[in-house]
Amino acid sequence: MTPPIPVTGLTRAELTDLVTGWGEKPFRARQLWSWLHVKLARDWAAMSDLARPFRARLMASCAPLRPAIRAHQVSADGTEKWLLGLADGQVIETVYIPEDARGTLCVSSQAGCSLNCPFCHTGRQGFARNLTSAEIVEQVLLARGELLLRARRVTNVVLMGMGEPLYNYDAVARAVHILMDDAGLAIGSRKITLSTAGVVPRLDAVGRELGVNLAISLHAAREEVRNRLVPLNRKYGLGDLRAALLNYPLKSGRRVTWEYVLLDGVNDRLDDARAFGAYLQGIPSKINLIPFNPWPGTAFRPSSPEVILRFQEALHRQGFVTVIRDSRGADIAAACGQLKGQLPGARPRSAGAEAPASGDSTP
Ligand code: SF4
Repeated sequence: MTPPIPVTGLTRAELTDLVTGWGEKPFRARQLWSWLHVKLARDWAAMSDLARPFRARLMASCAPLRPAIRAHQVSADGTEKWLLGLADGQVIETVYIPEDARGTLCVSSQAGCSLNCPFCHTGRQGFARNLTSAEIVEQVLLARGELLLRARRVTNVVLMGMGEPLYNYDAVARAVHILMDDAGLAIGSRKITLSTAGVVPRLDAVGRELGVNLAISLHAAREEVRNRLVPLNRKYGLGDLRAALLNYPLKSGRRVTWEYVLLDGVNDRLDDARAFGAYLQGIPSKINLIPFNPWPGTAFRPSSPEVILRFQEALHRQGFVTVIRDSRGADIAAACGQLKGQLPGARPRSAGAEAPASGDSTP
């Protein structure tokens, strides 16, 4: 049996090829594209100006247009989180973060993650599979549609949810092109950020082929600390990462964003801040310091507000724009992987792997 076609994951050109290949006129493809990406239709029945036989063919040949909503939570601060069930039973998370002038949607690129960063709740739950481009795009379509009903907007998209996007590059790249299409969702390249733990061989493609903003989850600028916090560092070390970023095709006026989760006694000393600043020399940068949002079972602790401020000040003194990110949605477990971890039957990948290494001294 032919598998159902994931139409939401087709570019406009591919959708046109599909529809004209069925003997339909090209304008039918334009109508269908508009129903999918402008009018945000959730089912075929809504597509009232499509001829019945065409709609019947779509219904018979194509995959459903949305994942199932397994859970939806709204935080007191307005952050919203969806737990989405995919066709094969996998579950992923999508989080909406409203701010004054914008609304940012954090989408997942994989079901789980293979990188096993010990402070990350998603990493602790293991890796299931890559998402398809349709499954990535549908997170945006679903959230945009749901939020429109409450007069809220998705203006920005960050690929910062579950998974390492550069280990699913082809599907992510296709999804990004669909999100950016001017005749569809039209989310500009400046409004999309791809966050990676540092898959060095793929970085150049992000700049050259996608042109979106780049964020690096650094979390430590000392090799031995990063080896523990981001195990990918053992494959692509700090030196390789820095060399790639010194040569990164950054668009004019843009900067690389550095994400740094502050963990009490692990990576929050003044020495760490100095090493961080030295590491960034020569790379146009802005820094997001992220207070750790503890999850049940973790042995990591958040740095105190005083330590976080001191760390920020040390980076300011070295000349870096440094923002302390608000902890959003704490009451709905909005940190990546937390809601999925609350599902009945969710299990961590192994016991005891999350403890911070001994020997790290407090600042
Ligand atoms: S921090 Fe990112 S790369 Fe590391 S395990 Fe979590 S989702 Fe994966």
